[in-house]
Amino acid sequence: MARERITLKSNSDIVLMREAGLITAAALKAVREAISPGVSTLELDSIAEATIVSMGAKSNFKLVAGYRHTICASINDEVVHGIPSKDRILRAGDIVSVDCGAITPSGWNGDAAFSKVVPGGNPELMASRQRVSDAGESALWAGIAAFATATRLNEVGRAVEKSIKAAGRFGILQDYIGHGVGRSMHEDPAVYNYQTRDLGPVIEPGLVIAIEPMITAGSQAVKILDDEWTVSSKDGSDSSHWEHTVARHAGGIWVLTAEDGGVAGLAKYGITPVPLES
Ligand code: MG
Ligand code: MG
Repeated sequence: MARERITLKSNSDIVLMREAGLITAAALKAVREAISPGVSTLELDSIAEATIVSMGAKSNFKLVAGYRHTICASINDEVVHGIPSKDRILRAGDIVSVDCGAITPSGWNGDAAFSKVVPGGNPELMASRQRVSDAGESALWAGIAAFATATRLNEVGRAVEKSIKAAGRFGILQDYIGHGVGRSMHEDPAVYNYQTRDLGPVIEPGLVIAIEPMITAGSQAVKILDDEWTVSSKDGSDSSHWEHTVARHAGGIWVLTAEDGGVAGLAKYGITPVPLES
């Protein structure tokens, strides 16, 4: 394994990253509220863009070479990297995963994602898709909770995998993983959603990572669609994607892309996030 170059953040860096995190959270909140049958994924993209710009930041997805949108919106068997389009109209009962990020004028990034079942669909189908979403969300918080006390980074992957396996028979994507976040949206280290042979780097204060489980209700095998972006399950099974940017500092952890810093999500683990003063 190539040696990773991890850039640790100071407390004041993390305070600045919180701004990027809160703007990302606001954009995703606005998108979540707009999700309903008949809305196109391009409309969701405009809502995210308007939110980010109104808060004085920019979309960092638009800085990814070849990508022109503010969000990725992936529907049903699409797991990640779905391209917004006026022709992709949400239907009642769809599960849509929305991924978004912001970069502040000071140059710091946030990155987060959620899945949501579009209201008003067939109750059985909705319940089955909600289970896929819930398994991903629980795994995300299990991973964040592990990050609070872990000494080696793959303790996060182990916790994510364990949570997913406890929730049922889900596929965990192997080639798409979490990452460090900082002045670049994607930095070292790699953050796996499963146990690896290598325990991963030793966790030090100042490590900021995106934890982002990507799962399917079937096989872990995925394919890339003809648009060269969208990652879809090979067997057509439904999928979900949940993500937060999380900082570990000397005093604890802080979920930068959660409005409450992670208070609600971590409560059942007995962990209280620790904000830093600016
Ligand atoms: Mg993301
Ligand atoms: Mg990410």
